Amino acid sequence: MDRREFLRGSVAGVLGASLTAPLLRAETDEKKKNPKLIYRTMGRTKLEVPVLSFGVMNTDSPDLIKKALEMGLKHLDTANVYLRGNSETAIGRVLKETGTRDKVYVATKVFLARDWQKGIFMLEDTGPAPAATTENFNKQLDQSLERLQTDYVDILYVHACDSANMVNYETTMKAAVKAKEAGKARFIGVSGHKSPEIIRAAVDARVYDVVLAVFNFQQEDKDDVARAIAYAKENGVAIVAMKTQGGARRQGDPASFNHKAALKWVLNHEGVCTAIPGMTTFEQLDLNFSVMEDLTLTDEEKKDLKLSSLDSGGYCQNCRACVAQCPHKVEVPTLMRAVRYAEGYGNLSQAEWTLNLLPKNHGLAACRSCSDCRVQCTHGINISRNVKTLKKQFALYA
Ligand code: SF4
Ligand code: SF4
Repeated sequence: MDRREFLRGSVAGVLGASLTAPLLRAETDEKKKNPKLIYRTMGRTKLEVPVLSFGVMNTDSPDLIKKALEMGLKHLDTANVYLRGNSETAIGRVLKETGTRDKVYVATKVFLARDWQKGIFMLEDTGPAPAATTENFNKQLDQSLERLQTDYVDILYVHACDSANMVNYETTMKAAVKAKEAGKARFIGVSGHKSPEIIRAAVDARVYDVVLAVFNFQQEDKDDVARAIAYAKENGVAIVAMKTQGGARRQGDPASFNHKAALKWVLNHEGVCTAIPGMTTFEQLDLNFSVMEDLTLTDEEKKDLKLSSLDSGGYCQNCRACVAQCPHKVEVPTLMRAVRYAEGYGNLSQAEWTLNLLPKNHGLAACRSCSDCRVQCTHGINISRNVKTLKKQFALYA
């Protein structure tokens, strides 16, 4: 089958996808039960979700997941690699115990080896990430289904596609389409950090139903992201927003954290179907949930966002200006992501996993031989301090 036939078949599959009657009934019942929740429709998938969903990245607490479902959230976002599989395992247990599999939308992701600097998939293993082959894609998906104790997921993403090239990589694209045809995934999508590029590429590929993309008020290219989101909406592709509260804290002023304002800002864009903040405590759940009562930004919240915008320090824009400055071409943006996992979310396991993805000559191991980091961030991040923190925190890392 050539690429055109493959795409034609895939588009027919997308348009032909339908919800089963019990699932539709479950959605209507849930809405009636909790009229306070604001729902949006996820493009052509027709899935209806509250604007708040649960990014189960930094927790494997069954109690927290259960509470979120009791409160009315119905979309759980996980990935094969989160918490070394414990996120999926916890979700699987909760769904089994509560008998709610047909009432909850589960999204997971397949993560395969890539060259971070070139933005391409790799056909050889890199650290804990297996080579980007069909066999590994299927193996990872089957492992996720087993952990989740289900025979299908509602959304299956090709995880962390950070270029149009990765979105269009034929091996993963075909494997995702085949998973959908086999009924292992109701809908398919891509996730990634370079939002405008990957959203447009995913829409143009005419295969994907959903894009999970970074969107927050602190992004330099947020206007372009908003335009790409509008393009996706026009074309029936659903947008799920992540890293929604990125940069909500003004540097050096922890009290300035205004999660609610940052989340409202994102959800005020109609093209965003739902957001998946990564919650780890009941307090965070309550706070995020309260956003759904009214998405209007108060004057005080607007003021907070404005003040935070004046100080972007601490939020990595993924501009990569730092990489060229480093004598070892260390993948600094990925190190900064590891810092955010470790310090911001307290998720040491994810931080370590992220560090292990990098080849030793471009990762933290290269920094060990460097006593004086002079790499300057164009956006005010203290790279030298952060590298020192990582070196100390992950002392056993080679
Ligand atoms: S220069 Fe700063 S903002 Fe840009 S990628 Fe590097 S750490 Fe991130
Ligand atoms: S510590 Fe050295 S190797 Fe590491 S980022 Fe800084 S300059 Fe590059």
